[in-house]
Amino acid sequence: MTTDSQQRITNNGDRRNVRGHRVTIVGAARSGIAVASLLQARDAVVFVTDHTKIDDSRRAFLTNEGIEFEEGGHTDRALEADYMVTSPGVLDSASVLTQAVEKRLPIYSEIEVAAWFCDAPIIAITGSNGKTTTTSLLGHIFRTDGKKTHVAGNIGNPFSAVVTKVDPADVVVLEVSSFQLDHIDSFHPHVSVLLNITPDHLDRYDNELGEYAKSKFRIRENQQSDDVFIYNLDDDQITSRLEAMKRSSKPVSYGFTLSDTPSAAGFIRDDALIIRTGQNKEVLMQSDELALRGRHNTGNSLAAAIAARVMEVRSEIIRSSLSRFEGVPHRLEFVREVDGIRYVNDSKATNVNSVWFALESMNQPVVLIAGGRDKGNDYESLRQLVAEKVRILVAIGESAATVAEDLGPYVDQTVMVDSMVDAVNYASLLARNGETVLLSPACASFDMFDDFEERGDVFKRLISDL
Ligand code: ADP
Repeated sequence: MTTDSQQRITNNGDRRNVRGHRVTIVGAARSGIAVASLLQARDAVVFVTDHTKIDDSRRAFLTNEGIEFEEGGHTDRALEADYMVTSPGVLDSASVLTQAVEKRLPIYSEIEVAAWFCDAPIIAITGSNGKTTTTSLLGHIFRTDGKKTHVAGNIGNPFSAVVTKVDPADVVVLEVSSFQLDHIDSFHPHVSVLLNITPDHLDRYDNELGEYAKSKFRIRENQQSDDVFIYNLDDDQITSRLEAMKRSSKPVSYGFTLSDTPSAAGFIRDDALIIRTGQNKEVLMQSDELALRGRHNTGNSLAAAIAARVMEVRSEIIRSSLSRFEGVPHRLEFVREVDGIRYVNDSKATNVNSVWFALESMNQPVVLIAGGRDKGNDYESLRQLVAEKVRILVAIGESAATVAEDLGPYVDQTVMVDSMVDAVNYASLLARNGETVLLSPACASFDMFDDFEERGDVFKRLISDL
């Protein structure tokens, strides 16, 4: 049985009765298949459409489940629906979605639909950078507290695949991308976290930062006065927009900052993390006790700590979790030290902002490996930090020439290479005792690898062979 307060902090209501609904799922990747299966099991009439060929194992799954599908293009059959469910990878300009809009069919994202079936409170985390780190941190805190915790969403574990296992007393920690927020309707997290807004994915938002920001803010649109919104007070893109929304009193807003601002819900004084939710103000821990290094991770830790306090996790548990967290692969991941040289894998740094924070967190001279598929990067904001911290630049991938041209003048030596093997060879030859070799590419990986995970794994393998 759910209690009244649980009912208020979840958002299911009547929506879960989908029996007989005709639903078209657009995109047959991980989340599309998961939501198809969820709805099929609840007697909806499901149809899956994908403009490319569906992966063999997924096709076999759909066939086994008796779910109708089409691939390699969309036909009119896709439009015979009461609503559509779209996947994060599908552009809003896809013909099947524009036709749905013309026909006035509602379009929902996969997390919207999954949330219809969730009776547990949802803690949802969004932002341009730090989502996976903060989501994992929070999952770790709740688990340390002994709560049955489900970590899902954009982190690679679709909410639809998890929601059937969620009991009302559990907690769901959900990583949410802006694309998933674009098509919510009733999605209602009890606690929402907005980490930062920096230019990313603007190609999908008509190159308008405002449009991208608007979609991030949708994380709080269904929150009520007993819900909580946690946000980064140091981010002007967030604070300026929030100011305009302040007139509405809901949800409760808790800001965090790396400055000494006692009115904030989370702030830093004399290198200590201080948390203030409700009437209680307490020194949580010293920042050098945090397992995750770097100022950006202090911000992520503050956000996670506030969310955990809101969910009534005791401070001792938060402190011990934050000091023992092992980190997430490919995010400033320490790989190994060889001959006094530290090797760090930050393959997930696919934009300039993440590299800025990676460099900022370095306190030894750096040999930086950067480059890959450039999404229209402006490297200017990195120049000063590169000049201060980077001795040698190893430029790789499609954007090697641009990276070398833009950042080369700020380092002692630049080398351009064609492969990760060469990058690691040069870096390890040129690095000196006491320096750090950092893979933090500022670019996507698709020019040389399947994804950032493969890029990071190759780097780590080469380091382990040194
Ligand atoms: P996301 O899931 O939002 O892509 P990740 O946690 O995977 O974020 O981190 C992506 C990259 O951004 C990593 O290089 C990481 O070190 C860096 N990063 C993590 N948190 C932040 C933050 N708060 N601000 C800026 N960069 C960050």
